[in-house]
Amino acid sequence: MARLILLGTATAVPTPDRGPTSLAVEGEGGFVVVDCGENPLRHLAHVGLKVERLRGLFLTHFHPDHVAGVAPFLQSLWLLGRTAPLPIFGLREVLEGVWDLLTLFRWESWEGMFPVEPMVIRPEAGTKVTEIAGLRVFAAPVVHSRPTLALRFEAAGGEAAAYSADTAPCETMVELARGASLLVHEATGDFPGHTTPAQAGEIARQAGVKRLVLVHYPPFPDHYDRWLEEARATFEGPVSLGRDGDVYVW
Ligand SMILES: [Zn+2]
Ligand SMILES: [Zn+2]
Repeated sequence: MARLILLGTATAVPTPDRGPTSLAVEGEGGFVVVDCGENPLRHLAHVGLKVERLRGLFLTHFHPDHVAGVAPFLQSLWLLGRTAPLPIFGLREVLEGVWDLLTLFRWESWEGMFPVEPMVIRPEAGTKVTEIAGLRVFAAPVVHSRPTLALRFEAAGGEAAAYSADTAPCETMVELARGASLLVHEATGDFPGHTTPAQAGEIARQAGVKRLVLVHYPPFPDHYDRWLEEARATFEGPVSLGRDGDVYVW
């Protein structure tokens, strides 16, 4: 059994109750954070995840709403006295961008800073990335305005959860999500490099997942019911609009 916790569900336009889309995925050996558009420390505290059990950070692509929180997050962990190394997984250009940001912040002068390890993910469909926190992690390139990876996490029993990151509908996402218990898919709308709720439902149907959770949807509450209806028109299983702090056991 594993858990997926929504730390944020917004696009690059946060609202009072929704921050940039970010997840925590928890296995038997701890948890990882996926995407980091803002410092997730408050959100982790709200859902009871202790940073001592943080095993790694995954970054799907180099857009501010997915990476801008890395430097303040590392700074917080440093000030909290972390000593354990922290691997950060992502495409080469994403890690280079993050390291550039950290260099601007002169992080080499943070006395006693714990080791941070860059772990490059190759942009190959279905590539196995690592085993971490009791989870097997797979990645696949998806279709967005910058190089982007979607991710799949498999627990010890084989159950899986997949996260689309930002993407247009694509076959690699269908394959990566194949048979998953949970698909967390973006639903930004009808824009280049993004997906509508109906298309996210179609991806969920083709992949044969059990449950669909929409994230990265715009801040227009008047449309929420319609978006749910649109996704339910293309996918028969349970569909929800993710809210910050939601916890899914899978
Ligand atoms: Zn985004
Ligand atoms: Zn993006």
